[in-house]
Amino acid sequence: MSELSKNMELVADTYGRPLRSLRLSVTDRCNLRCSYCMPEQDYVWLPREDVLTLEEMARLTGYFTDLGVDRVRLTGGEPLLRRGLSGLIRLLRQNQQIKDIALTTNGILLADYAEELYEAGLHRITVSLDTLRPERFHQLTRRDEHARVMDGIASVPRAGFTGLKVDTVAIRGFNDDELVDLIEFGKQAQAEVRFIEYMDVGGANEWSQEKVLSQATILLILSMRYGTIEPMPERGAAPAQRFLLPDGTTFGIIPSTTTPFCSTCDRSRVTADGLWYRCLYATAGTDLRKPLRAGASSDEIRDLIRSGWEGRRDRGAEERKALERDGLRIGGLIGIEKLREDPHLEMHARGG
Ligand code: SAM
Ligand code: SF4
Ligand code: SF4
Repeated sequence: MSELSKNMELVADTYGRPLRSLRLSVTDRCNLRCSYCMPEQDYVWLPREDVLTLEEMARLTGYFTDLGVDRVRLTGGEPLLRRGLSGLIRLLRQNQQIKDIALTTNGILLADYAEELYEAGLHRITVSLDTLRPERFHQLTRRDEHARVMDGIASVPRAGFTGLKVDTVAIRGFNDDELVDLIEFGKQAQAEVRFIEYMDVGGANEWSQEKVLSQATILLILSMRYGTIEPMPERGAAPAQRFLLPDGTTFGIIPSTTTPFCSTCDRSRVTADGLWYRCLYATAGTDLRKPLRAGASSDEIRDLIRSGWEGRRDRGAEERKALERDGLRIGGLIGIEKLREDPHLEMHARGG
């Protein structure tokens, strides 16, 4: 852990947005092939020797917390494929600046690890689940793992966790007839469901405007079943707008595509090999692995992060939305050839 922790310094970007939340991708590998994230047959993986050790990840995180980060989300690829993940959580728990350590997982390995993760000090878990129907799951992910994901979800409260979230990418023509079923599932699984609008991040993601189920449509579908839906108080920098059903059930919508929330975005992400991206849509990042391994001082690495954040102008989702006016929002952000040249541009490398 870095020695400045006691004198934490806050930095702000060109729009005055603070640096508060870090998504740490612990691996780019995955045991599913979701069509909106990894539709291709073959992928170029990050070279193993480039992938940061858990100690390097904890050390890097320390520089971020010195500059204001107090929330860390572990993601991937599939983070539970990273050996020793609980060890990383234990290291992060030694950092007093971190108030919240969360995990986003596809849930396949969760039943095996939930207790261990709880013991290690993980605060919260989000499981991605797009359908309750095993055959649809297979169609979407090209793997027969639905039952294991369901077991994984059930294991979370049993292990002692509260605040379980289930994230669903809402896709027109795929799961728009399951929104109510998913809310009902959430009630019995002690989970808050959050619907994510389909995003045109990465490139090979089979995105099209027609497949986006907007926040407005999601609310319409749910109100036909549940009646009046009340928005809950302001969300601040959180990506999800939360809503309340008449029976007291809450759920969220992350409307990144139709109603971007870049103006309050305090998030950035580090890939498993130590590239730092200031936006989900950014095509260039800052290499933090090189200075880390070359023996740069703590001050030097912090300066790199500070100046990177102070120069941040990113508002990727708003810029993508602006293309709609001219009819230019027609597919993924980046062409497949370019993705093959640089795997960092893939959604699964930068953690969603
Ligand atoms: N493998 C883990 C999982 O699926 O939960 C963590 C990494 S995954 C990249 C993180 C989140 O990004 C998942 O909830 C996934 O559904 C979401 N995601 C991936 N591609 C997306 C897209 N094109 N639009 C919206 N959400 C997407
Ligand atoms: Fe699906 Fe997550 Fe794997 Fe992407 S990283 S293919 S969203 S499970
Ligand atoms: Fe933040 Fe970029 Fe997402 Fe906008 S598009 S909310 S700036 S990560």
